[in-house]
Amino acid sequence: MTMLEITDLTVRYADTPAVEHVSLEVTRGEVLAVLGPSGCGKSTLLRAVAGLEPSASGAIRAEGKDLSRVPTHKRGFALMFQDGQLFNQQTVAGNIGYPLRIRRRPRPEVKARVAELLALIGLEALADRRPDELSGGERQRVALARALAVRPRLLLLDEPLSALDAALRDRLAGDLRRILTAEGTTALLVTHDHEEAFAVADRMALMRAGRVVQSGAPADVWAAPVDAEAAIFLGYDRVLEGAAAGALLREAGLPDAHAVALRRSALEVHPGGALVGTVLAFRSAPELLRLTVDVPGIGVLSAVARSAQEWGEVGSAVSLRVVGDRLAVLGGS
Ligand code: ADP
Repeated sequence: MTMLEITDLTVRYADTPAVEHVSLEVTRGEVLAVLGPSGCGKSTLLRAVAGLEPSASGAIRAEGKDLSRVPTHKRGFALMFQDGQLFNQQTVAGNIGYPLRIRRRPRPEVKARVAELLALIGLEALADRRPDELSGGERQRVALARALAVRPRLLLLDEPLSALDAALRDRLAGDLRRILTAEGTTALLVTHDHEEAFAVADRMALMRAGRVVQSGAPADVWAAPVDAEAAIFLGYDRVLEGAAAGALLREAGLPDAHAVALRRSALEVHPGGALVGTVLAFRSAPELLRLTVDVPGIGVLSAVARSAQEWGEVGSAVSLRVVGDRLAVLGGS
């Protein structure tokens, strides 16, 4: 069952297109992440879905109904932004219940729904605090609860975790997924952070310069980026092309290809590994050592070692093996 259907949508600012010929679908209960670098048009796409930006051409439908003449407040969607936008003069409970109160829902219903949402976000104890007495992560959870209060048929999330620091972002991404799943919420999330998209979404669409260049299940997109630019955006460390790609794939026992993307841990120090490189530099990371190695015929690459004994010292030669699930063979481009 399709909740949202975007067909061949183009949105322009004056004469400049910000979204071009985008088609996407979100099925009921699904979380779709639109992932792309800053300026690629993802907020514009979200604003068009919300009815805050007119489209130049194409269509947006919700449950089969065209939305071109439906104003924002009649679309049945909720919006959540990076900065949450809570009301500081109201308590946490007051903020969460606000959308229900302005819809004049009966008091007992408001009370019950607020209690349910407070439990869902794990902030029952903070119901009477004001937003400026909360941490950034707590504020975002309250903003999420408020957005969910009326059980919107679609939740639109604009970089919901970007204002938080890295450790908190990780934790909250897991919470966000759990909360959306528990509520059965259909959501469209836009973000520039591929880890956030992986952690939260059922499916993702990669956007670049106004267009969707790839979409699919996060694991599938991650395992097979459409091209070098997509690979780097998805957190791959290097893309090797031509002879260097061929040499690496040969040593890995894989079929030849025009290009291969490597994660930072695609090469591992291993006795008897097929590649030999010279250690140029190293640094300790929490669970392993990260090396920079020069492999003749391929180039300077990242590698990992499990322990200091495995690699000797700067200038020494090391054997390396290629870890097959840490690389992606890229298509024709
Ligand atoms: P993102 O959310 O991916 O960072 P945006 O959708 O905000 O990208 O912007 C897409 C493009 O449209 C950018 O080139 C941006 O400069 C331009 N843009 C965004 N908002 C406006 C506006 N109100 N007027 C003119 N150009 C805009």
